[in-house]
Amino acid sequence: MLQIQNVKKVYKTGALVQTALDGVSLNLRDNEFVAILGPSGSGKTTLLNVIGGLDRYDSGDLIINGVTTKKYSSRDWDSYRNHTVGFVFQSYNLIPHQNILSNVELALTISGVSRRERRKRAKEALTKVGLAEHMHKKPSQLSGGQMQRVAIARALVNNPSVLLADEPTGALDSETSVQVMDLLKEVARDRLVVMVTHNPELAEQYATRTVRLKDGKITDDTDPYELDPGEAAVHRKMGRSSMSLLTSLSLSFHNLWTKKVRTLLIAFAGSIGIIGIAMILSMSNGVDRYIQNVEEDTLKSYPLQITDSSFNLASFLPERGKEDSNPDAEVRERKTVTNLLATVSVNDLASLRNYLESGKTDIYSHVQAIEYDYRLTPQIFAVSDDGFRQVNPDRSFAALGFSATSNMNGMLSTMSSTDSFHIMPAKRELYLGQYDVKAGRWPETWNECVLVLTSRGNVSDLALYTMGKKDPAELEEMVRSFAEGTPRKEDESEELTFAYRDFLDVSFRLLPASSFYTYD
Ligand code: ADP
Ligand code: MG
Repeated sequence: MLQIQNVKKVYKTGALVQTALDGVSLNLRDNEFVAILGPSGSGKTTLLNVIGGLDRYDSGDLIINGVTTKKYSSRDWDSYRNHTVGFVFQSYNLIPHQNILSNVELALTISGVSRRERRKRAKEALTKVGLAEHMHKKPSQLSGGQMQRVAIARALVNNPSVLLADEPTGALDSETSVQVMDLLKEVARDRLVVMVTHNPELAEQYATRTVRLKDGKITDDTDPYELDPGEAAVHRKMGRSSMSLLTSLSLSFHNLWTKKVRTLLIAFAGSIGIIGIAMILSMSNGVDRYIQNVEEDTLKSYPLQITDSSFNLASFLPERGKEDSNPDAEVRERKTVTNLLATVSVNDLASLRNYLESGKTDIYSHVQAIEYDYRLTPQIFAVSDDGFRQVNPDRSFAALGFSATSNMNGMLSTMSSTDSFHIMPAKRELYLGQYDVKAGRWPETWNECVLVLTSRGNVSDLALYTMGKKDPAELEEMVRSFAEGTPRKEDESEELTFAYRDFLDVSFRLLPASSFYTYD
């Protein structure tokens, strides 16, 4: 049950003060189909956004299942938006270059659901809206009515108890509108649906209750819900959104690899690219709120890394004003490297750790996990009949000028190294739900490894060289001739296939650094 109590919302743009909601009170039942009618500018969208947690109210209260939202943190709002509410917009807001299935699945990516389950649920939602046979099409290959049904499937895929629709038929002809309304009516059978419309006929025909707004005030309500004083609803537990550390890490590794990292700077561009792509996506969709939320949810859980030393990336960039004011016939120095090297700062990580563990901070309620890394580089060897070979730190690209991990700044190394081995997060919840175990089991002791396959179940040839499943001499040869610029003939060999069990018995030797020395 949602209770909106005397909610006010004012928009200030420059000198203009616009009252969008002027003391709105409204109780919504767990199961009804409410239509909100009103002229343009009467506050319908604002009300819907406040109910859905997309927008904050200035005063009043929104009570969700008996609990006030006055003290909601942004994480509580995230959780509410991700698990309790689904949104449908007039303009569909689908991602154009992804197919229907991915569009629906994307809404689930952020909810800590395994990949297989995600796909299954997305298919179910699409079947429910009658689009099962279209799921591999792109949005542009669908009609307006079909796109709106995809948007409804996307809103339903988390099985929210509230569906909010802002003029869902606003861009559709009357015949298609009827199909979408039939679907919404079906959806409203077991949940609360709140729909904004300026079509009174549709409202009358489909909704069980009509609320009219004018100038930010309710002027009419066909079926008000008055609560008995003692009637407080039970607070249902809401899940927590999490795009795990590993998912985001694997995203960035994948991104970097496909870009074929050659230099440090390209590595930087690559990592900025992930955020950039999301930004371009949202802009090509008219900076809509759906994408914005996905972005926030994603970025929220990107690992934030604090290293013992850091420098200011902005020093790479020219200072605008200075460059412009350069008079003719004078060549002035630009302090690129001087500034870069001057901005190196040192962080006192020991104190930071002491502080984090002192109990004087509530940071643990805002993060998923805090993990410490001592930048030790495990020396790992593959042992075979022909001898042994060091596989970590990775040296296969040494001929191209890649240095071993340990020489680099911690942050740079994770972005640009070619190492196959990575430390797993200590907190298992960060990855368990994100992967399916295809064979074997999750590690139980510190010296066990996990081989991560791609979403299609493939493994990179680099990993195969590392594990000795392909001849490492071949890789060395390839790298050498690449570095020398010697043309090689096309690779005509077949792609190899393996059974899961082929990887289960792979083992490596880990040597402590001290074993590299002998007593003199
Ligand atoms: P409706 O959806 O009924 O057309 P809205 O809720 O969008 O109305 O808007 C209500 C009022 O608030 C309008 O006067 C509108 O100009 C103003 N408004 C809405 N959103 C904003 C905003 N982001 N910034 C400034 N004013 C806004
Ligand atoms: Mg509107």
